[in-house]
Amino acid sequence: MDEVEDDLPTPDRTYYGDTVKIPGTGSAPNRCRGLSPVGFCEGGHVALGRSSCDTRYCPDHYLGWVRDGAASAVARLAAYRENAEGWGKRLLHLVASPEADRVSADRFWSMRSDAQDAVQAAGARGGYCIAHPYRTSDAADELFRTAVQEGNLSAETGRWTFLRRFAGGDWEKWQSMTEAGPHYHFLAPCEDFDPDAVPDGWVVKNVRSFSRFEKRDMESFEDMARAAWYLRTHGAAEEFRQTATWFGDVHPASFDPEEELGAVEWDCIQERAAEAVGVPMEEMRDGEGAKEERTCEVDDCEEILHDLDDLRMFTSDASWMRSIPPKRRHRLRAVEIWMFEESQKPPPSVRSSEAKVQDWLLETGRMYSDHSKQTGLKAFDQL
Ligand SMILES: [Zn+2]
Ligand SMILES: [Zn+2]
Repeated sequence: MDEVEDDLPTPDRTYYGDTVKIPGTGSAPNRCRGLSPVGFCEGGHVALGRSSCDTRYCPDHYLGWVRDGAASAVARLAAYRENAEGWGKRLLHLVASPEADRVSADRFWSMRSDAQDAVQAAGARGGYCIAHPYRTSDAADELFRTAVQEGNLSAETGRWTFLRRFAGGDWEKWQSMTEAGPHYHFLAPCEDFDPDAVPDGWVVKNVRSFSRFEKRDMESFEDMARAAWYLRTHGAAEEFRQTATWFGDVHPASFDPEEELGAVEWDCIQERAAEAVGVPMEEMRDGEGAKEERTCEVDDCEEILHDLDDLRMFTSDASWMRSIPPKRRHRLRAVEIWMFEESQKPPPSVRSSEAKVQDWLLETGRMYSDHSKQTGLKAFDQL
């Protein structure tokens, strides 16, 4: 009976469009929204910024979530391939699509296990599955084609990367550029691929096979990293649901890299995976020169900027402290109170504006400097 109900045409109101989104289309969580100190310059200025939350739904920081998951996916797949023999190392990018397109959110998630059955029937031993709720709309495809024709895009730019530039974190804009189209991507070890062995109601396609795996060859890590990264950027996002999952022989319950390869080898593979994934990260976030020396952005300052890790070293240097003006000294003191001692913290309303944070730092630092002095000197200090 359930089966029959599942097969009935699904009315629009149960369609998942309002529940299942893609990463980076929610609102920024409180912990990353406010400004906080991120560094200081040798002239004593405090630099402010927003710290990354690396959460899936944050429009500013979802790439951190993409990166972390891609790194662990590449590591597990690499370990599996390292441990396998001969053709067992072969890794394919497969896509499984059901005939249904407008389904409920629950159905969308439950179809993931049907998709896994379908690719296993086609010969996959298991693997990494990324659920995709949407396809790009005709209008979006047209926009992409035009940009390519006009030479505004490099050949490697993916369709979804391009669309992100238009829609950013705005879900309404995304809705105009996508349409329902549940399908499931797989990075799956597979020796012999047989698409005809797939059960009715499903189509499984082999997109490509990954370059040959060789643990000393960075390119074989990067090849997997690019795919895992890109597929995660537009995977399905709904609270309490995982965008990507493991199954079959590659699932953590079936394959333990540390046990199979030993701790040293596993560490080494994880490092290489992180390195491979780190490449697109630099490209997408900061561009080149992210590691260059940074300088203070206060007008006419241009002193070297340091991380907060170095602050204690500077403030304990009495001659450096004497060399900077009192207001800056107060602000640095407040940074210590806020970030290290955690005894005072500005309210969210203050953390929305750079000027307000700087004022708060001055007031707080002044108050604390005063309290730590003897009464006689306190009056003197306020002159
Ligand atoms: Zn964030
Ligand atoms: Zn400065």
